Amino acid sequence: MVTTLTGVTENLSHDSVESLSMEEHKNCVELIGTYGSDEIHALSAWTSTSRDLPQEKRERIPQFIKMLVENGHDTPFEKSSLHFLMTTDIASHIHILRHRIGVSLNSASARYKELKEDKFYVPFDWDDEDRSAYEEFAKDCFKRYHASIDRLVSKGYDRKRAKESSRFYLPYGMQYAIDVMFNFRSFVHFLKLRYSRDSQEEVRAIARHMLQAVIDCGQFPHTLRAFDLVDVNGVIREPF
Ligand SMILES: Cc1cc2nc3c(=O)[nH]c(=O)nc-3n(C[C@H](O)[C@H](O)[C@H](O)COP(=O)(O)OP(=O)(O)OC[C@H]3O[C@@H](n4cnc5c(N)ncnc54)[C@H](O)[C@@H]3O)c2cc1C
Repeated sequence: MVTTLTGVTENLSHDSVESLSMEEHKNCVELIGTYGSDEIHALSAWTSTSRDLPQEKRERIPQFIKMLVENGHDTPFEKSSLHFLMTTDIASHIHILRHRIGVSLNSASARYKELKEDKFYVPFDWDDEDRSAYEEFAKDCFKRYHASIDRLVSKGYDRKRAKESSRFYLPYGMQYAIDVMFNFRSFVHFLKLRYSRDSQEEVRAIARHMLQAVIDCGQFPHTLRAFDLVDVNGVIREPF
């Protein structure tokens, strides 16, 4: 982890402590970088008076952040950024894509790159019989996808068209790599909808891993508490 500016941490190692890799056929979340902190949120709100931060003012930060949240004064929380890398199934990918405000997202594109790793998600709560049946189906889809690209190219289609159109053989459980960044305010909004008992199990598990990674980074204890995302001991709350 390299600290580059006050409040900025960049982590390009996949073996970092924030890494929350999951096993084969599961989704995966890593917090790869953050900007901001409780202090940045408070300073942003105090800009109208002063950016100085004497000890007396620093001690007021927890209570001040709580007051900001209670009064819906949410823009200071837009000053922090949370940068995640994920591997998700298509359904979760779509759920995340629906969040438009304060979110920046890039996905791997099968238009430009043949997907060589044949990664797919298998529901964790299925029994062995259904897991095996789905694995067999998904592997067959990938086999047909690769064969289709080769066949279309051998017939004279250009490789780009062969790749983008052969995607239609891929299964809904296939996994995409996505690179997504939220500001803290939009992250809280995302959690309220996706770390919720009403959300689909898969995206809820992703949201939980994201929240745990943000808790573990240690930069936002009072903001997390003010938004009721952790209990008084800093432990992750149960879904909304
Ligand atoms: C349990 C659940 C079930 C769902 N089921 C369906 C479904 O069946 N079909 C479906 O299509 N989607 C469904 N969705 C997706 C949902 O409708 C939203 O698209 C998604 O949750 C993103 O929420 P959002 O628009 O609040 O977030 P963002 O796009 O990040 O927007 C954040 C906030 O900005 C404001 N905002 C954004 N855009 C506008 C705008 N154009 N005008 C005014 N205010 C705006 C709103 O206050 C909004 O809450 C479901 C979501 C959940 C959580």
